[in-house]
Amino acid sequence: MANAPLDIAQAQALIAEQCSLLAAETTAIDDALGLVLAEQVIASGDVPSSANSAMDGFAARAGDAGRTLRVVAESRAGHPSDVTVGDGEAVRISTGATMPIGADAVAPVEVVEDQGESVTLIEELLAGSNVRLAGEDLRAGDAVLAPGRELGPAELGLAVAAGRSELQCVRRARVAVIATGDELREAGAELAPGELHDSNLTTMQALVRSAGGEVVMATNVGDDPAETQRRFAQALEKADIVVCSGGVSVGPHDHVKGAFTELGVEERFWRVALRPGRPTWFGSRDGQLVFGLPGNPVSAMVTFLLFVAPALRAIQGRPPQQLGSSTLGEAIERHAHRDECVRVRLEGGEAFATGPQGSHILSSMALADALAVIPRGEGSVAAGSEIELLPLQP
Ligand code: AMP
Ligand code: MG
Repeated sequence: MANAPLDIAQAQALIAEQCSLLAAETTAIDDALGLVLAEQVIASGDVPSSANSAMDGFAARAGDAGRTLRVVAESRAGHPSDVTVGDGEAVRISTGATMPIGADAVAPVEVVEDQGESVTLIEELLAGSNVRLAGEDLRAGDAVLAPGRELGPAELGLAVAAGRSELQCVRRARVAVIATGDELREAGAELAPGELHDSNLTTMQALVRSAGGEVVMATNVGDDPAETQRRFAQALEKADIVVCSGGVSVGPHDHVKGAFTELGVEERFWRVALRPGRPTWFGSRDGQLVFGLPGNPVSAMVTFLLFVAPALRAIQGRPPQQLGSSTLGEAIERHAHRDECVRVRLEGGEAFATGPQGSHILSSMALADALAVIPRGEGSVAAGSEIELLPLQP
């Protein structure tokens, strides 16, 4: 492989080349939020299935105001009345309840005088008023959702309305997450000098889940070549994507690249002209994707968003994420040789850096609304310039 660092877009293109769509599987609707539909959903019946009332009131025949009608029955939601409504009659009806035969309109409770056994209409009752017709929402046989549709709350509800309890969906990506480093201790552990809490393991799992993936393994491993290789082999047994952090540089205690190479993972790129996140490694093995992200917490997160997230979207059938844009509220110094992802907060339609931008400063990431992509070059990007924004939600 060439040794010159790649552009962000070049690196993303090399990743995209290795992405292929995961298989579809039968999924319970309540587990399908965020997945992509792999079939066409057809309405199994009319929705609503019968004409029903849009109001609480009295179902009757259309006609003049001033009529007094005898209340002959009640139709409640889920409990239709089998009475046929004649002239001079009404059926007490609740919202959503089926219209009784013979009635073609509903007088809302607000426009009648209710005497209990009878009601007097204060207003003229027009045919069809306050009646929802069968099939007004969906007709039996209608194509309701097409393959490729991302399933949000409304789509899931619509599929249920169309008669479904399961859907064919592109399955979730199985992702193994591994943090490397002798200095790492698990969340909550007492720290000895030189140690630190393994925040990447938590952040990376959260990113995987928020991109719709399933975490099938999450562990940390010390800077030991044999142990690293053993853990990576386990990860490759069960994951579509392996993401690890740290240990990817060229120091004597960096074993990530070597371990993956030993396991037959082919290097696709190494290093990107990016700040933070230059020492990013990507490889693949028979359709499995392997990401070696830098260890510093902000670098790991930025490179996840730039490289892992698009791969997760692609193999799960989701379209690429749209970049946003904003106006810089203050000048930002450019890096001469690397494109920079600057943590920014958005205020009054303008973007401002959230504070110190070191790759170890996770607190300024937590304050950010987005990453501003500042192209490399001389000098600075002036306040008022248009900038591209990378969302923090993958
Ligand atoms: P490395 O890329 O392994 O050289 O790691 C660079 C630095 O990132 C380390 O010295 C740590 O300070 C930090 N770091 C590495 N891994 C983690 C992790 N899992 N959680 C938090 N910080 C980490
Ligand atoms: Mg390390």
